[in-house]
Amino acid sequence: MIEIRDLHCYYGAIEALRGINMKIEDGAITCLIGSNGAGKTSTLKSISNVVCRTGGIIYDGVDLSHLRDIQIARQGVIHVPEGRGVFPGLTVEENLLTGTVNWHGLFGKGRYDQDLAEVYELFPRLQERRNQLAWSLSGGEQQMLAIGRGLMGRPKVMMLDEPSMGLAPLVVAELFEKIVEINRERGITILLVEQNAKLALKVSNYAYVLEQGCILLEGPAEELRYDPRVVSAYMGTG
Ligand code: ATP
Repeated sequence: MIEIRDLHCYYGAIEALRGINMKIEDGAITCLIGSNGAGKTSTLKSISNVVCRTGGIIYDGVDLSHLRDIQIARQGVIHVPEGRGVFPGLTVEENLLTGTVNWHGLFGKGRYDQDLAEVYELFPRLQERRNQLAWSLSGGEQQMLAIGRGLMGRPKVMMLDEPSMGLAPLVVAELFEKIVEINRERGITILLVEQNAKLALKVSNYAYVLEQGCILLEGPAEELRYDPRVVSAYMGTG
């Protein structure tokens, strides 16, 4: 379990997180929803230590808050960032190999064949395109690549920031099936940040609603899905 205690995040004078507390249970999908600018991305960046923050982030008894970003990744807490962040001038396979943070550092040699095979089994389309440059992939394929690269880091916990962003509904549905498969069949804990609250609450076990840097609501996703406050504020009328 990851336990987040009194987490604050700052961008200069702006306080993006104002003391949030969360628990991310092992083996579950936990989602974080909220409006634009609520602090969802800042929460993930705070866990990964790529922003200025204070507070406790305890994972399996280890306080991650004192570790550097690469050390946190090596603990198995892997961040798949908003906007995918693939390297456009590298091939699909080269991009995947940049995710091998656990044994030989970036561009590690050696025992990655099994991990590559597992990523290709999950995303056959990446295997078909293994020698294609990443810029030439569709948005959905780039998101698969970003997730695949995360899997190459042998995650125990995967943090996914807005995986549905900019994708057509059918592509999103396909992608979310894979996310559920990663959780259920590979046993990887997921922390999911999503604008699409309806979808996020459908696949998650537990949910937090963030507003202006504070946790506004939390509970089992199945309950929040039908909570009138959530429905009216985050699910639109459509
Ligand atoms: P979105 O859904 O729009 O991505 P979010 O919930 O992920 O929003 P954050 O990106 O975490 O929200 O932003 C939280 C607050 O911090 C916002 O007020 C935002 O303007 C501010 N913020 C984020 N990044 C920076 C930055 N690099 N410099 C200054 N302020 C920032």
